[in-house]
Amino acid sequence: MQNYDIIFEKFADELGPVKTVHIYDPRTGTKGIVVIDNVARGPAIGGVRLALDIDTEEVMRLARTMTLKNAAAGLPHGGGKAGIIGDPHTADKETLLRAFARKIRELTDYIPGPDMGTDEECMGYIHDEIGRCIGKPRALGGIPLDEIGATGYGLSRVAGLALPFAGISPECATMAVQGFGNVGRHAAAFLARQGVRLIAASDTSGTIRRDEGLEVDTLIRVKKEEGTVLAYPGGSKLTRDEIFKISCDIFIPAAQPDVITLENVETFQAKVILEGANIPVTEEAERLLHDRGVLCIPDFIANAGGVICAAVEHRGGSETQAFDVIREKLEQTTGELLSAIGREKLYPREAAMRMAIDRVKVAMVLRR
Ligand code: NAD
Repeated sequence: MQNYDIIFEKFADELGPVKTVHIYDPRTGTKGIVVIDNVARGPAIGGVRLALDIDTEEVMRLARTMTLKNAAAGLPHGGGKAGIIGDPHTADKETLLRAFARKIRELTDYIPGPDMGTDEECMGYIHDEIGRCIGKPRALGGIPLDEIGATGYGLSRVAGLALPFAGISPECATMAVQGFGNVGRHAAAFLARQGVRLIAASDTSGTIRRDEGLEVDTLIRVKKEEGTVLAYPGGSKLTRDEIFKISCDIFIPAAQPDVITLENVETFQAKVILEGANIPVTEEAERLLHDRGVLCIPDFIANAGGVICAAVEHRGGSETQAFDVIREKLEQTTGELLSAIGREKLYPREAAMRMAIDRVKVAMVLRR
């Protein structure tokens, strides 16, 4: 159990959160939390996470990340997040999501989207109840961002600027991808089209490695059909975490939070890290890597492709427009970030935070 007074003491600052709402629907037993962190730039966008262990503190942290991500990407949106307490494998999602949607009907400055444990179908239920969400099924006018690889595409555009900054040419570069799911596989596919060679990929079952290069389409197919990257024909099979020790130019963590920490950072071999997952590298490890000359592009800059796509969907835009806007916004943000790092000798996260917070504060001055 959490003490809300202590959580507020710890988290409330000059940006937010502006609203924290606990939801309970006695009829279905649905319990949830919604945090609207900041709406100065526009209505808050953020996913609905379905998990057994979700709590107020986590939802607050995630909502703040969305404020920073949306501001850094230059979107006219604030940040929010929601959590529904339930087992994503066994829960009756339709009942939970419909009850949740009815409870947030009046919270019009929060626009829900998919997140861990929820998907397009869940957004379909929310849309049916209240007509307000992003990440809807295509049949309802949505843009299926995981299917089209919006976040992976964004990572590849960020790489387009980050690699030359680090003195690496894409045609000669190698990459390793931790977590070959929606984010990881699309990032690998888009980067492979720029000439980058995929030499290792992992999932929960292990790591597949081939220094001459893994054929990305084949790897995507076997992962889909057999459920693991280890089913790839050829290459060597390593344990799950051996991927961290592989020497490569680009490392993309696209699985879990806190996978690179002070514990394992010393063995780490890559030159550029593109943070596909949220908070995959602890802040202390990020600083140590930067001091060692590793360029680390922070999560809320690098993985913003998905939310940019969602914002395009919200305005009724098309898939083609979504790709164009992702490219334009991420190239601009990454360019600004890299010049701040180069000019002011800041750590990347410090520079990114400053950029995002300044944008929110400017909007706050203009709003009542
Ligand atoms: P996913 O479930 O589609 O894929 C995750 C993959 O990681 C799976 O293949 C799983 O087997 C693997 N995995 C899990 N734990 C692992 C571990 N310890 N080592 C190696 N592999 C592991 O999820 P996703 O949508 O690709 O999201 C991945 C991460 O990126 C999450 O943290 C998510 O919050 C974040 N993210 C996703 C998006 C998006 O557009 N989907 C956008 C921004 C951030």
